[in-house]
Amino acid sequence: MLIVQKYGGTSVGSIERIEAVADRIARTVRAGHQVAVVVSAMGHTTDELVRLAHAIDPDPDGREMDALLSTGEQVSAALVAMALHKRGLGARSFTGWQAGIHTERVHGAARMLNIETKALREALEQGVIPVITGFQGIAGDDVTTLGRGGSDTTAVAVAAVLKADVCEIYTDVTGVFTTDPRVVPNARKLTEVSYDEMLELANLGAQVLHPRAVENAKQFEVKLVVRSSFTEEEGTYVVETPVAFEKRNVVTGIAFEREVARIALVGVPLNRHGLASVFGTLAERNVNVDVIVQSVVQQAGVDVSFTVKEEDSDRALRILRDLQSDLGYRDLVRENGLAKVSIVGAGMISNPGVAAHMFRVLADDDIAIKMVSTSEIKVSCIIAARDVERAVKVLHEAFIEKE
Ligand code: ADP
Ligand code: ASP
Ligand code: MG
Repeated sequence: MLIVQKYGGTSVGSIERIEAVADRIARTVRAGHQVAVVVSAMGHTTDELVRLAHAIDPDPDGREMDALLSTGEQVSAALVAMALHKRGLGARSFTGWQAGIHTERVHGAARMLNIETKALREALEQGVIPVITGFQGIAGDDVTTLGRGGSDTTAVAVAAVLKADVCEIYTDVTGVFTTDPRVVPNARKLTEVSYDEMLELANLGAQVLHPRAVENAKQFEVKLVVRSSFTEEEGTYVVETPVAFEKRNVVTGIAFEREVARIALVGVPLNRHGLASVFGTLAERNVNVDVIVQSVVQQAGVDVSFTVKEEDSDRALRILRDLQSDLGYRDLVRENGLAKVSIVGAGMISNPGVAAHMFRVLADDDIAIKMVSTSEIKVSCIIAARDVERAVKVLHEAFIEKE
């Protein structure tokens, strides 16, 4: 078999962990498999690099930021290759450009365009294990990065282009759980989860997989498994349709996101494509808008509220202030310190009343809901950040433990 193994930050967080990773790779090779490895930066390296940059400039140049952040993965790729050499195995580290990973020129959130497989294939044919830096690629002569958590996406893309039999994501938990096991210790590990549910969970804040990794795995039919680099325990398979041998709840999982901000535009006149210019301009400037709520249309115009990541809220405010004379809105309000909690499950399609049940559970615990957003398989509520852990716990009890 050809196996792509991706090791996350904690899994390569120290020399001891790198040695353990090399042992696992060596075992896989000695069992007769071909392996291509994708690695993240060691431990909290990327956070630390972000901190250094922000100590100089809170809004640093995108190109230089990518030049900086991409270094973390180069350290771990080289160290893992050395640890494999020590075990008598052929291995070679590949940066994004050496692996031929081409992306769009969008610094900090680039999408991959194509991967030239020649160098990777040659290595594999020579019995050399490629150890590829996750999270980075090139656009022309410049290094780009794929967005935080993006090494998962590199691994899935490499698995897709090499037509690997499986892509194994090794992390610090034993699989995908019904919610973050750090918040709810009795969260249950899922044996299987569908691509669609996993995509919602990932998009709604479950950090365990990068959303684009799930999207690509679905599109290119990559067999994906999440498991721990610390144990031999079976992981969670992400599949098209889970086999229903385990009892399935209406709600499969609960996800949450902290550091959400709400921005409200009061009295937007109706006559000037107001909403289109607000959201068009924010999109052009790469501000990601999430939940949008519009009030009932009145003579004086409409009120529009939407959420953004707290870190983007200053920039969003600046952009909107510049637009005030064009848009003619009356007032601009921002609220920080919010969070989003979401329940996800394919079973919701055929079970009405799930949203009402969620609102009741939160209300019973005195958690105020500020905004709501739904799709076929999820309900999200914006709440105060201080309530988020409590909300996740009560929702987990109501929808998972008691079901
Ligand atoms: P890595 O560095 O290996 O990529 P991450 O920190 O990105 O690891 O992702 C793993 C973390 O995701 C876990 O430690 C856990 O706290 C968090 N997490 C959030 N939601 C879930 C979930 N539903 N199932 C498992 N882990 C989750
Ligand atoms: N090192 C990068 C990050 O911390 C990418 C990753 O770990 O997936 O976001
Ligand atoms: Mg990750």
